[in-house]
Parts: sequence; C-alpha cells; structure tokens
Amino acid sequence: MIEDQAHSVSCLCRSVSFRLFGDCTWTSYCHCASCRRATGAALTVFVGFRDDQIQLVGREPRVFESSPGITRGFCDTCGTSLWYRDGKLQSETYFLLGAFEHPESFKPKHHAFLADKLPWLAIHDEAARHQGFSVPRLLQTAGCDANEV
Ligand SMILES: [Zn+2]
Ligand SMILES: [Zn+2]
Repeated sequence: MIEDQAHSVSCLCRSVSFRLFGDCTWTSYCHCASCRRATGAALTVFVGFRDDQIQLVGREPRVFESSPGITRGFCDTCGTSLWYRDGKLQSETYFLLGAFEHPESFKPKHHAFLADKLPWLAIHDEAARHQGFSVPRLLQTAGCDANEV
C-alpha cells in the first residue's frame, strides 16, 4: 500500500485520526434525526470503508451506542463525530465526511432517511433517494444498485 494514497480523517483537536486505504464502499447523505442530533448538523454525509482498509492513528475514539446495534465514534476531548457502525453491516465503518482532510474527494451517491429530511431543505441532485437506509442491511454487499431493505 502506498502511504500517499491514504485518505486522512481527524477530529478537530487531531488527537483521534485514521488513515483509510483504497476506494470507499459507499457514500450517502443521512437525513435521520439521530445523525442530526449526534453531529449538530442539519444533515450528514457518510463515507464507508471496510475494516481492513482502516488504520487508527493516535487515540481510540470514545464509542456511544445511539440505538440498539448502532454505535458512533467521537473524540472525547473536542467532541467531533467521526464514524458510525451498524451491527447489521459488519466489517464496515462509515466515516463522517466533514472529518476528512479532503472531503471534496467524495460525492454522495445516495440520500438515506428522506422521511426525516428537514422541510426547508431542497434537493436537486441526481443521488438515489431512500426513505430509510441507503445501504442494504440484509444483503451485506457493497454493491451500489441493491435496493434498501
Ligand atoms: Zn479531538
Ligand atoms: Zn442517520
């Protein structure tokens, strides 16, 4: 693996950071109320990587279980939200776009949980639209065309 090709993710105080190697598996907006509260943002963007692509640099993040099986990693010094994991999507971690050194490298291809979208937010892009999850929960594939379940 060539170090220079890694993506960098860091919290605001830089004490928790990750290097991510290779191509992401998924990119999606999430409009759900849990993400909204966890991040303080009107909507979030997640970028998925398999665990074997991820290298922790520095401290481990603190982990909070926001709903059964859903965990969220954050820095317990500066509070930055870093990732979420779902027990139904084992071996994958979804990093928050805003924590990437180069967030412009990723363009979301899906909208998840449009059912929770704030009413004043207008969407005009071509990304696939889902009322609930964008990542298929039962199929366990990284395919981009599978329907949500
Ligand atoms: Zn921090
Ligand atoms: Zn969400």
